[in-house]
Amino acid sequence: MSKAPLSVPEIVEAGLCMGCGLCHGVAGGDRIGFVMTPEGRLRPVAREALDESTNAAINAVCPGVRVEGPEPARAAPEAELDPVWGPADGVVIAHAGDEEVRYKAATGGILTALGQHLVETGEVEFVLHVGASREAPMRSEARVSFDRASLLAGASSRYGPSTPLHDFHALLDRGRPFAVVGKPCDITAVRNVMRSDERARTLVRYCLALVCGGMSDLTKSQGVLDDAGMKESELGLFRYRGHGNPGPLRAETVDGRAHEEEYNALWGDEVGWALQPRCKICPDAIGEVADIAAADCWPGGGPSGEDAGFNAVLVRTARGRELFDAAVSRGDIVVDRTSSFREMDDFQPHQVTKKNAVWARYAGMRAAGLPTPATPRLRIEGLAREQSLSFLVREARGARRRAHAGRLGEPPASFERQWGCT
Ligand SMILES: Cc1cc2nc3c(=O)[nH]c(=O)nc-3n(C[C@H](O)[C@H](O)[C@H](O)COP(=O)(O)OP(=O)(O)OC[C@H]3O[C@@H](n4cnc5c(N)ncnc54)[C@H](O)[C@@H]3O)c2cc1C
Ligand code: SF4
Ligand code: SF4
Repeated sequence: MSKAPLSVPEIVEAGLCMGCGLCHGVAGGDRIGFVMTPEGRLRPVAREALDESTNAAINAVCPGVRVEGPEPARAAPEAELDPVWGPADGVVIAHAGDEEVRYKAATGGILTALGQHLVETGEVEFVLHVGASREAPMRSEARVSFDRASLLAGASSRYGPSTPLHDFHALLDRGRPFAVVGKPCDITAVRNVMRSDERARTLVRYCLALVCGGMSDLTKSQGVLDDAGMKESELGLFRYRGHGNPGPLRAETVDGRAHEEEYNALWGDEVGWALQPRCKICPDAIGEVADIAAADCWPGGGPSGEDAGFNAVLVRTARGRELFDAAVSRGDIVVDRTSSFREMDDFQPHQVTKKNAVWARYAGMRAAGLPTPATPRLRIEGLAREQSLSFLVREARGARRRAHAGRLGEPPASFERQWGCT
């Protein structure tokens, strides 16, 4: 990584941005806008050239540039540090106590149940998370929920782009305690802010993460609509999963037509995920810096049918342990059984491969002249040392080849070049 901070266009064009939205608040005012690119990605565009100190402030918190690992001081007292899965003082299989939450949520409803627990017990005033856009339900947007119903309305996974942290600094300005539920990169961004911002340290009481295989470009969702003969302007509902585990993708038009696709038809083969470049080189897609991380737990890595909804849950920090135990005591969460890091390997083989490969992928990117994120305390070099030379060479060469072919970088984002306008 060069000494001079990367500019926002450099972060985007290097393929490091995942569109979290945080730089909007760091730059202040309205100096950064967001566009949906023709590739189907939400990306920042500076309305004016930003000075070096603003770029440095963005680099310090941007989860494309800085991905710190867990801070030992936050760890739960009994936490073990697994080389692949990071810290946890226990892995359990669990689900929401409320059957409606369990049914409507992505998996077993753990994240929604924890959010509901926090607002109902008054531990936080609201939860920042993500839901379907009310005007354009194929799109996803940040949601601030103060109650049980709003949290439930935002339950389930949104696999397309969103900018959950676009108004994060404005939320800090409210001066009220809150929790953040998000992807691991969203939580990385929040922890980056907490490092230098006393308000964030005080007000963000809990960080809860979903374990994440990567975010799909909006082209993936558009492809579903095209196949169904629906137009985005006709939609009244676009749900990626939930209403069962995993539940189908369901699109409904306002004039009463409906289309469903099974989870495996869309997500069964990783080749068809249409992932943005940053996800392919993600050094922490498993929520290592969250207080609690929740995942799917299908043996072998994918569903063989529908089930009642079960999450694998990693309780990572001391605060996470207190919250989880309180939610279990109140009946908001039900624990089914204990699990283990090695069972996580079976549930999430793609995460294990990525974690083992990411250091070599960075070597390939650097050989092609691309910058790579700083990754202190994420153990990726140590994991690489455990791999065979042939694996590392293959991963590094593959990354270098994709970088040279422009597939690990991105085209410039601009107001002139937007989704539907080129
Ligand atoms: C892009 C993506 C990729 C995923 N890949 C994997 C994977 O590889 N392996 C795995 O085990 N699980 C993956 N999941 C997570 C899984 O789908 C469940 O979200 C997770 O098991 C938690 O289930 P739950 O029932 O507790 O969640 P719920 O109770 O349904 O709560 C989910 C919460 O996450 C928030 N949320 C949903 N989408 C987003 C988003 N795009 N950005 C920020 N916040 C969001 C919602 O607002 C809600 O608060 C992925 C999820 C997403 C969004
Ligand atoms: S990752 Fe987030 S903070 Fe970094 S450039 Fe992209 S939108 Fe901005
Ligand atoms: S794979 Fe990593 S960068 Fe991509 S959405 Fe998930 S956590 Fe964010």
